[in-house]
Amino acid sequence: MSPRHACIVGFPVAHSRSPIIHGYWLKKYAIAGSYTRRAVAPGEEIAFFGRLRAEGFVGCNVTIPHKGAALAAAHGSTESARAVGVANTLWLEGDRLWADNTDGAGFLQHLRATVPTFDPASAVAILGAGGGARGVIHGLLQAGGREVRIFNRTRDRADAVARHFGPGVRAYDWQDRADRSRDVGLLINATSLGMQGAPALEMPLGALDDRCIVADLVYVPLATPLLAAARQRGLAAVDGLGMLLHQAVPGFERWFGVTPEVTQELRAIIVADIEGG
Ligand code: NAP
Repeated sequence: MSPRHACIVGFPVAHSRSPIIHGYWLKKYAIAGSYTRRAVAPGEEIAFFGRLRAEGFVGCNVTIPHKGAALAAAHGSTESARAVGVANTLWLEGDRLWADNTDGAGFLQHLRATVPTFDPASAVAILGAGGGARGVIHGLLQAGGREVRIFNRTRDRADAVARHFGPGVRAYDWQDRADRSRDVGLLINATSLGMQGAPALEMPLGALDDRCIVADLVYVPLATPLLAAARQRGLAAVDGLGMLLHQAVPGFERWFGVTPEVTQELRAIIVADIEGG
């Protein structure tokens, strides 16, 4: 097979760890090909997706701020991409460009691998209403979730997400996040709070049920203040890195024809990169 090439498209994109992940798998499975970064300035992304093949690519991952445009540029899309409303994975089938959103499935896979006792029917509190939150909510509903409570600083966005997903998903005021999370089985931070360089997330965990699982989408730092506080309280903690690794699997499979494995060795490589700054 002739070498195949994929990339991650974003702006900026220099921080992305995706080339390390896909580069590891290309080497591990001895596949001739490459996975590189492409910084595409806002306003140029639709044209770029349109000439993906001419640029030499069989597909790409898409990150901020082009995830919405990626779905709009595609000729076809998966149910996940349409339900979430943004795409993080594109691939070519003939001349048709296809879009998928793999965040929700990636989140669920890592959650189940970390806490096998997770009950998808338990109530969930999610902080944030951006693309990451929507992906995770879709994944939870697909897994059998029945009650998702959204808390977002900008209430209108939480309302819009709740309306979009319909029954089972309700929006609440940001300041009610602690009071209304007492009985949930899973608490998720899907805001950018707690990320290196961002303000801390203020979320008291004292009143949470002893069996509550605490998950963070943020993975830099790996041990966010929220996860550290959860561990301190003896709660199961699920980091954002596992989601990042698992969301990468379907793209690699589509571009290079091999289902790659998320290994401890791969995880250790990314951890070292994060910790090395
Ligand atoms: P986004 O669409 O820009 O949404 C950002 C969210 O953070 C919004 O809900 C926003 O609330 C909230 N927020 C920002 N600053 C805030 C503040 N000072 N106080 C309260 N809320 C604040 O971003 P995204 O794509 O959903 O990503 C969110 C986080 O998840 C990022 O850290 C990203 O790196 C991470 N993520 C990780 C993975 C993974 O694979 N682990 C995948 C996707 C995303 P408003 O609506 O009020 O602005």
